[in-house]
This record gives sequence, C-alpha cells and structure tokens, in this order.
Amino acid sequence: MYDAFIAQLREQAGTKERIALHQPVFPGNEKQYLNDAIDSTFVSSVGPYVDKFEAAMSVVTRAPCAIATSTGTAALHVALKTVGVGSGDLVITQPLTFVATCNAIHYCGAEPAFVDIDPQNFGLDPHALERWLDEYAYIDDQENCRHRATNKKISACVPMHSFGLPAAILLLLKVCEQWRIPLVEDAAEALGSEFRGQAMGTFGRMGVLSFNGNKIITTGGGGMVLAQTPEDAARVKHLTTTAKRLDDFAMFHDEVGFNYRMPNINAAVGLAQLEQLNNFVARKRALAKQYQQWLPEFGLQFVDEPADTHANFWLITAVCQSKQQRDMLLTQTQANGIETRPAWALMHRLPMYQHCLHDGLTVATQLAERLINLPS
Ligand SMILES: *Cc1c(COP(=O)(O)O)cnc(C)c1O
Repeated sequence: MYDAFIAQLREQAGTKERIALHQPVFPGNEKQYLNDAIDSTFVSSVGPYVDKFEAAMSVVTRAPCAIATSTGTAALHVALKTVGVGSGDLVITQPLTFVATCNAIHYCGAEPAFVDIDPQNFGLDPHALERWLDEYAYIDDQENCRHRATNKKISACVPMHSFGLPAAILLLLKVCEQWRIPLVEDAAEALGSEFRGQAMGTFGRMGVLSFNGNKIITTGGGGMVLAQTPEDAARVKHLTTTAKRLDDFAMFHDEVGFNYRMPNINAAVGLAQLEQLNNFVARKRALAKQYQQWLPEFGLQFVDEPADTHANFWLITAVCQSKQQRDMLLTQTQANGIETRPAWALMHRLPMYQHCLHDGLTVATQLAERLINLPS
C-alpha cells in the first residue's frame, strides 16, 4: 500500500525529486519591489511599502484597518493586549494549534483554557464552548465574564482556523457575544479563506495573520492585525511602535511598548505576494481536488472545506484510520524524500501548558494522532 501511495504522490507532483510540504514561490513583482525598497534607502520600519501593504490587505480582506507587524506571534500578542487581556486572566483557545497562540496569551500574563475542537473543521467547537461556559463561568455586575472556581476574568476567546479551514465562526461569535467575551481570530493560516464571501480574520473584534515562510503568502517573517475600529487600530499601532507619542517633538514614550513593526523590505515582498494571493489559492484548491479523488482509495479521509466556506487549503490534511497507519505513512513518505507532517502535539500536553484548565478534549485527543499534512 505504501509504495502505491508514494507512487501516486510522485505522479501528482510530477517529479522524482524531493517534494516539500509547502514551498514559497516568488513569480511576481517581489524582486522589483525589493530592489526599489533598497534603492530608496527606506529599508527599516518606516517606508511606503508598509503603508501600501497594509492598504492592499485592507482591500483584499475588506477589514476596515490593517496594521503590519514583525511576526504573527507579535500580532497576536498586541491584539490580545488591545482587547484587554491582562495579568491573571484566562483566555479560551483550542488545544490543536501552533504553540504561538498559547505563547501570546502567556506573554500577556494570562493563561489558556482549552476547549475541544469541532471534528469537521478542527477549529474551536462552539457547542463545547457553550457547554464549558454554562458549567464554569458567570457574568459579574461589571459585565465581565469570570471563571467561577477561581474568579479569574475570561478576557478573550481565540479560535484558530486550522490549516486554513474556517472554524464555525458565526456560532462562536454568538456564544462569545452572549458571554461578553471579545473574540480574536487566529487566522495565521487562513489568509484567502472565506465564510460566505467574508474573509477569515474579519469576523471577530480583531483577527491576526502570519506571513512566515511557510504560510500562503510570505514576507520572510511578518504578521498583520486586522481591526474593525480605528480605536483598536490606533491602540495596536501604538503598542507595536514602542508606545511613541507622535503628537510632539519630545521623543516621548507613554507606556511599555514593543518594537513589533514590519520592516519596509519585508512589506515590499509582502505586497508582491499579496498581488498573487488569488492565484496561490486557486493552485492550492486545484491540488486539493486531486487529493480528494484518490485519498479514499488508501483508506484516508480527505478533510474538505466546511459548508458555506471557501478554504485556501494551505496545508492539505487527511485523517488516517489509526495512529499506526499515520506513523507508517510519515515514515515511508519521509524515507522517500516526500515531506509530510503530523499535527502539532496538543497544547495541554506541553510542559508549560499542562497545568491549564481544559474540558476533557475528547475529540482533539482522538483525532490529533491520526492527522497527517500532505505536500501542499
Ligand atoms: C504561523 C502561526 C502563527 C504565527 O506565527 P509567526 O511565525 O509568529 O508569524 C500563529 N498561530 C498559528 C496557528 C500559526 O500557524
């Protein structure tokens, strides 16, 4: 079976060489804009490409405001600070995610509380969220949501759109509104994904994108906060620019800020990449269609986009029948120069987050060890 599987992967990719999980491509204006940025001497955190990249992202996602940052993790950190996550708080998120989601929560002095994932889209499950809040939370007389047993404030909820598949965002929003919890979307993997024609990252109060080298578009390294209001955008901008006051000549900083700005040379590459987003997504979707046709022959379940959504299929994902099958596939493909990857270790199993609250995480526990990401 494994030989046939590998042969099929090679035929699809049309190569006998190494096959990568994901590879960035730079077929557009990347070099031209990069040269232009260097020639202009504006290579650092101020420059026209940063403004152009932010404006273009606003147009593409229809987010009212977009603020470029040095990484996706930095974007998450300042977005969480902006919605008011502070020391001693709890932030609800999912156990199946990249560790950056939890780290950003930790940087705010808060702790993650893990709620189970939806077996269809691997994002936070709105029903599990509702059950957990009903059982463990209350709303105090200042309209803050609090955890009953510890009285800690539950100051944000961060669903993640896993592998670019949109989570059940409308239901999640409804539960969060009911419980007065600001929703921040970790859309790091989901640029180009939509629910009913609306870009992921624009449903919550804020959304976060990443442009690391392995994402659907890259700036080398970088991120973006999508904000719904000018007030939130101004706060994000302030925090990412070392809290520098711009209204006088005093070089005055009015709080502890961060140097989280995106350099102009990264934005130059980002703008050129963004111009090709539709093309990149179309190619990923065409590849997904191919996988969908033949994966079942090997007893693998192709993970399709949820109803009403248009996914970017950033990383093609399959569910294996067992952990043993998953492990064999990983070993055999990798031994044959084909890059495949298991899902992340669940967050509540990492040493720094193993003491965190969780709801049992039945679905995540059963599914995670059977997931495999295939060359995308
Ligand atoms: C990539 C990613 C991030 C941010 O990563 P950076 O490398 O800091 O840009 C955050 N969350 C998830 C789920 C990611 O996949």
